[in-house]
Amino acid sequence: MVIAVYPGSFDPATYGHLDVIRRASVSFDKVVVGVLYNSTKSPLFSVEERVNILEKATKDIPNVVVKPFNGLSVNFARENNAQVIIRGLRAVTDFEYELQMAQTNRVLAPDIDTVFLTTSLEYAYLSSTIMKEVALFGGDLSKFAPPEITDAVKAKLYEEK
Ligand code: ADP
Repeated sequence: MVIAVYPGSFDPATYGHLDVIRRASVSFDKVVVGVLYNSTKSPLFSVEERVNILEKATKDIPNVVVKPFNGLSVNFARENNAQVIIRGLRAVTDFEYELQMAQTNRVLAPDIDTVFLTTSLEYAYLSSTIMKEVALFGGDLSKFAPPEITDAVKAKLYEEK
């Protein structure tokens, strides 16, 4: 049984993330999405909210589970008996950082491999940050995430004002 973890901030998830999760769920027996308690970024959604959002958005995929985590991705992988860490690659701008992370993780845990899934072209430009910026200025979010997520973004931004 090959288990993969997919760590990230997911603040909140977009169609880009959901596409990576769906595709990973085909190649791996189980995908554990890890939602990071991030001490350096100040997220729009709490980790519990981000987990909740992802659970709802992936409820139709039986071999996907969503969990919060803190600390190193390799430790999260070990705790979940995963052999693989999944990351998404959008453009060359992602590449340098992702390569450095993958190499660091290889030094820390040589038995765990990083697998990159290249983004589907229609989501190559998309990030949680872009979605939040468009939301801030009242733009149409329907191309970025499913309605339950975009509604949560709008409610959150509205509630914060
Ligand atoms: P992090 O803070 O760890 O980068 P993100 O939530 O921004 O967390 O992203 C998690 C992972 O998903 C990263 O590997 C990122 O490259 C990938 N990702 C983000 N957006 C997309 C997208 N539109 N298409 C494919 N992969 C994506």
